[in-house]
Amino acid sequence: AKLRSNSIDYAEYGTSHERRDNLRLTDEHPSEWTPTSWHTKPIVQDVIYSSMEDVELALEKLEALPPLVSPYEINNLQEKLRDAALGKAFVLQGGDCAELFDYCSQERIESKMKILLQMSLVLIWGTKLPLVRIGRIAGQFAKPRSSPTEEVDGKTIPSFRGDNINGFDVSERTPDPSRLVSAYFHSAATLNFIRSSLSSGFADLHRPFDWSLSHVQSSAVKARYKTVVDAITEGLSFMKTIGADKSSTLESIDFYTSHEGLMLEFEQCLTRKLRDPTDGKCKWYNTAAHFLWIGERTRQINGAHVEYFRGIMNPIGVKVGASMTADELVTILDILDPDNIVGKVTLITRYGVGNISNVLPSHIAAVKRTNHKVVWMSDPCHGNTKSSISGLKTRDFEDIMNELALALQIHKDNDSQLNGVHLELTGDAVTECIGGSAGLTDEDLQIRYQTVCDPRLSESQSLDVAFLIADWCKK
Ligand code: PEP
Ligand code: MN
Repeated sequence: AKLRSNSIDYAEYGTSHERRDNLRLTDEHPSEWTPTSWHTKPIVQDVIYSSMEDVELALEKLEALPPLVSPYEINNLQEKLRDAALGKAFVLQGGDCAELFDYCSQERIESKMKILLQMSLVLIWGTKLPLVRIGRIAGQFAKPRSSPTEEVDGKTIPSFRGDNINGFDVSERTPDPSRLVSAYFHSAATLNFIRSSLSSGFADLHRPFDWSLSHVQSSAVKARYKTVVDAITEGLSFMKTIGADKSSTLESIDFYTSHEGLMLEFEQCLTRKLRDPTDGKCKWYNTAAHFLWIGERTRQINGAHVEYFRGIMNPIGVKVGASMTADELVTILDILDPDNIVGKVTLITRYGVGNISNVLPSHIAAVKRTNHKVVWMSDPCHGNTKSSISGLKTRDFEDIMNELALALQIHKDNDSQLNGVHLELTGDAVTECIGGSAGLTDEDLQIRYQTVCDPRLSESQSLDVAFLIADWCKK
């Protein structure tokens, strides 16, 4: 680990979109990429630690620990995302906004896998496409913040920046480098439990009722879910009759992990030169997750994050908000996907319901004029975050549904196709987004408002979203 000098003072540089202009492309990208070449680029959302020795100790430890995922698995996901980019598969990516170390428990991991599996069933039934499942899990710790500080009980304290940096508890807001090592071990334990559950039949399609709708109150949603499960069970029993039910794909599924690649010190340590099993050549893989994305706040063309991301073999995502110009979008794709690999980049659009109609058509047109073939994914959550009357951060379920419906329709109208959806959700009965089939109101928010960052869809609201996509595809 080396001391870096590329940090831009948080307060001075800020993170707002207006100030991104300050980060113009000032020089060419260095042709030589290394896991640390991002040190030469301006970085936003940087974390300043008080002891560089402790940072070095943490990074040395991380560098010595084994990969969490393998090139073989990463390549497999790349293949599936190629299918998605070609309209031959659909991607469901979802999970918490900020994963906490405390979420590393059997109950919480199972409940998140369960909701993703329930949604998968509905989506497979509706889209009639193979489904690619990617959790925001096993490493979704670091959070970009719009302000470095916040007011709590009249005091200004540092914002919570994710469990791998500081603690949510107000007494733990000083960045602590040992949390980077804890992040690795919590990711490893989470991933281990996911792997063992899947290999022990958790996702067996013959038992979809095991993923019971524990928190869904709406009888209409329950009835609809039962219709889907009945249809699938009937199909499976038909396949059994004709002896076509022996495929192992019915008993297990592929499940991939992802997180925002925000904390580059951590990512750099987990970036390893490993043999690509398809051609035997050694290449750089980020072995902390199968899929990583660049956030809306860190996608500056000449910035540290884009520099880091351009060198890894993993399929990657870029959050695309309404302030992204078509030219900027094309430049980012040229940097991140110089070899025009189909499905290498997933564009995760998060415009907001009021902006999507103005912006998405021009983005689709701009990408069409290039040789990049991307996965188009809609994140209908992040452009629709607002303050509730009581001051809690919330999202209106209507806005989420409307942005998603518009994404589906605008792609179709522009001779394109929506290939996936990215959601902040939980399998629990939280009350964080208003609306949905449970009819949550502003006053209901405080009942079970449990998020430490952005508001998530509840189990019931998540299923509603899956049905919206399924219904749209079926009509
Ligand atoms: C997120 O996905 O939690 C996030 C911060 O999103 P965005 O970068 O799109 O704002
Ligand atoms: Mn979020």
